[in-house]
Amino acid sequence: MNASAERLPVRQTASQLLLRLIYDRGPISRADLVRAAGLTAPTVSDAAASLMAEGLVVEVGLGPSTGGKRPTLLQVAPDARQLIGIDLAHGNFRGALMNLRGEVICREEILLEGHRGVEALALVYRLVDALAARAQRPLLGIGIGAPGLTEAARGVVNAAVNLGWNDLPLAELLHEHSGLPVFLSNDCHLAALAEHLYGAGKDSPAMVVINTGYGIGSGIVLGGQLLAGVPFGGGEIGHLVVAAGGELCSCGHRGCLESVVGLRALARRAQELGLDVPAQLEGLPALLAERQQQGDPATQQLVNETGRALGTAAASLVAVLGGCRIFIAGSLMALGDPLLAALRAELALHAFTPVVEISEVGFVQAGEDIVLRGAAVLVLSRVMRLL
Ligand SMILES: [Zn+2]
Repeated sequence: MNASAERLPVRQTASQLLLRLIYDRGPISRADLVRAAGLTAPTVSDAAASLMAEGLVVEVGLGPSTGGKRPTLLQVAPDARQLIGIDLAHGNFRGALMNLRGEVICREEILLEGHRGVEALALVYRLVDALAARAQRPLLGIGIGAPGLTEAARGVVNAAVNLGWNDLPLAELLHEHSGLPVFLSNDCHLAALAEHLYGAGKDSPAMVVINTGYGIGSGIVLGGQLLAGVPFGGGEIGHLVVAAGGELCSCGHRGCLESVVGLRALARRAQELGLDVPAQLEGLPALLAERQQQGDPATQQLVNETGRALGTAAASLVAVLGGCRIFIAGSLMALGDPLLAALRAELALHAFTPVVEISEVGFVQAGEDIVLRGAAVLVLSRVMRLL
């Protein structure tokens, strides 16, 4: 039996509060913790001792003297616990073992190869098993970013068309399989959470992450809160119609954003323009960026149209949210500044100028692990009350 079977104690309030303070502000002295927590010195001392006994907190040297002897500083031990993050929103299923700072320790990837339904579910089990087997510390839980409509509160994937999942209680099934707490959310929502905590969207009062790839969606964070929808559907802009009467989308409607800028749509349009398309569609945007730089007019047109379609959708977001920061994540980031320039131009054409002027468009900074980092946020906030 590996460490995953170990039962973790439920944090009690004083030590829970202290752990969070040490996580956010460490290295920090006990005296500063007394002030910050508003607790008595003996309570802080006892709670710190129990956190150290659990291996969650360590002493890391001495701080500057404030008159008397130099205080010992406390810090969270980032590798005291591990967690599993899963990103199901690509051509392949990706997962990582991560630490308490959401840093990747090791990765596993499983080829989806067109599997759907129960076969795709079996691959998720395989991915989790492979990562759990590599855990060297007690596992806190599993965070999953799933494509399509998800109901985070119930841990259900309502509809993921490409995986053939309908009303799949994925969190419950995976909990039964692994014995670990499992938390699930839409991949774009997790990307937004990660960018809000770790990336360029830090402390933004209103921000949106548009995640691009095979599917298109967005996560909206307003006043520090994720707009997930009740019970689901928040930020679901992939099926916003941006080209009336356009191509048929997987949802059954025509001209959705996803049917214009999703990877399959991008490949189709590239072929129509006589461009070569790689077998691995994830590599297509980088290839297009290279051709664009070489001055190929067909590619420039394709990139421009892609940015403009995103700009049309961004105008709807701005109309509802008011001034906000919009970040592009995922595959289309490879298209670089020409994509953003086209997006900005179209946004300016379609939205109210004063609102456009207080809005901002850019790329995420959280990197290609953005969904995995969001999955870590899910576990850390729910199990440890951190973040
Ligand atoms: Zn659609």
